[in-house]
Amino acid sequence: MTGSSQQLHRVVVVGAGWAGLSATYHLAKQGYEVTLLEAGSYPGGLVAGWKTAAGRSVEAGIHGFWYPYRNIFSLIDELGISPFTTWTRSSQYSPAGLEVESPIFQDLPQLPTPLGTFLYTQFKRLPLIDRLSALPLLYAIVDFDNSDEAWWRYDSVTARELFKQFGVSARLYRDAFEPMLLVGLFAPGEQCSAAATLGMLYFFILAHQPDFDVVWCRGTVGEKIFRPWVERIEKAGARVLPNRRVTDLIVDSSNRATGVVCGDEVFDTDAVIFAVGINGMKKIVSASPNLQNRDQFRNLSNLGGVDVLATRLWFDRKIHIPRPSNACFGFDTTTGWTFFDLNALHDEYKDEPGTVIEADFYHANQFLNLSDSEIVPIVQNYLTTCVPAFREAKVIDSSVIRLPNAVSHFAPGSYQHMLPTSTSFSNVFMSGDWIVTRHGSWSQEKAYVTGLEAANLVISHLGKGIPADILPVEADEAHIQGLRQINQTLRQFSKSILPDFWLP
Ligand SMILES: Cc1cc2nc3c(=O)[nH]c(=O)nc-3n(C[C@H](O)[C@H](O)[C@H](O)COP(=O)(O)OP(=O)(O)OC[C@H]3O[C@@H](n4cnc5c(N)ncnc54)[C@H](O)[C@@H]3O)c2cc1C
Repeated sequence: MTGSSQQLHRVVVVGAGWAGLSATYHLAKQGYEVTLLEAGSYPGGLVAGWKTAAGRSVEAGIHGFWYPYRNIFSLIDELGISPFTTWTRSSQYSPAGLEVESPIFQDLPQLPTPLGTFLYTQFKRLPLIDRLSALPLLYAIVDFDNSDEAWWRYDSVTARELFKQFGVSARLYRDAFEPMLLVGLFAPGEQCSAAATLGMLYFFILAHQPDFDVVWCRGTVGEKIFRPWVERIEKAGARVLPNRRVTDLIVDSSNRATGVVCGDEVFDTDAVIFAVGINGMKKIVSASPNLQNRDQFRNLSNLGGVDVLATRLWFDRKIHIPRPSNACFGFDTTTGWTFFDLNALHDEYKDEPGTVIEADFYHANQFLNLSDSEIVPIVQNYLTTCVPAFREAKVIDSSVIRLPNAVSHFAPGSYQHMLPTSTSFSNVFMSGDWIVTRHGSWSQEKAYVTGLEAANLVISHLGKGIPADILPVEADEAHIQGLRQINQTLRQFSKSILPDFWLP
């Protein structure tokens, strides 16, 4: 530590998504002088929402909040807001029609995982023999415990190879696992790390029977969560400054960042938290000689993002849609998509005379160059395949939002380049949904948790305030704990007798 104690509480946070807001909020509550710099015109990051010229709400994709998002649910309680729907059921469609219906798992008798997921999910077409071919995969689920060693063991393998190696049938892969990857990791199996696949599947589906239960915001996340949260953050004393694109750090001779450069402005600071996505971080590095000097930041060039497309369509009539949230596969080989009945989910559209649909496309590369007038009929056509009544309906308004390289790509071999929360600078910390953490969460919950982890590192570095209480993911069920213990013992034993000769 350097400087007098009064000077040691300035923190600059870069990026106002879940991660940046999380770090800012906690540090502001602890009495730090926090400045949050956001490149966009409002906070929210990938979850931002805004109004169209016609005054209708749109956002960069609909966001679900799954049962294990314990830290986000606890924040919502603390803020005293009630932004969510009740737990919703969902369906899955292919070009052949309805494929799967999911119940609300927490309402059914609890079975040891993964039995409940296996028995209660209503598959309409997938034969039992294909479903049973997933059984050997249980070994990989037990073996992957989210430790650093487990990531190194599985990260250079593709998800497709993993499923093939464990004997998953071609149909189960095509009709169940790959669709989950397209909506969970935003990429097809041959482009996903097996480590990320196992971590994501365990967190969202397999760790406990209710994990796949989900709620949605009853409006845009921007309106329902970020607006009241940012008000609270500003009340706690933080400055939230939009339209500030950070380009560099000022670094002193003792390995400390002393300032954050933002165009012509410099913000003096005692600590920095980066909370920007992979793409944003790569851009900062490319403009910053001080970051380019360091291997760990230079190596970020090896990481990438995935293209996403978010569309919202207003139809001229009411159409009955069996479930409010729906995932779809098999329409394009490398793209997954989801559609949501916003009349059922969003307060604003409850009394709308027509139907309002959000349809989001993941790994949407081939769609991004199409014009809006080409995209809208494709979306209507796909919707018609799932719910035939869309055929006759007229689109009376639409919004198409292109998000190139927007979401983190957990590509095979990417783990070695992803950054931990601490960096080679003594007072620069990282957060976001792509940052390495042992917490075990994913997506928004992970971004929020890593923001708190970065805030706690600032607290331990600068010595002021109380660390945030981070709720761990719910403990493994007893039989999984037992199996992991046995597996660990066998691994240690084989390590002690076999030479370190083979690839991990
Ligand atoms: C269509 C879509 C659907 C999704 N669905 C879900 C879902 O259902 N459930 C779920 O949990 N997650 C979902 N996600 C993922 C979720 O949005 C992300 O995991 C989460 O928002 C990441 O938050 P973050 O704070 O890490 O990063 P971001 O939200 O990317 O925030 C980073 C911020 O940094 C800012 N920034 C970048 N560069 C600079 C700079 N140089 N200077 C200053 N600021 C900068 C950006 O403008 C941005 O505001 C979805 C994502 C998309 C796109």
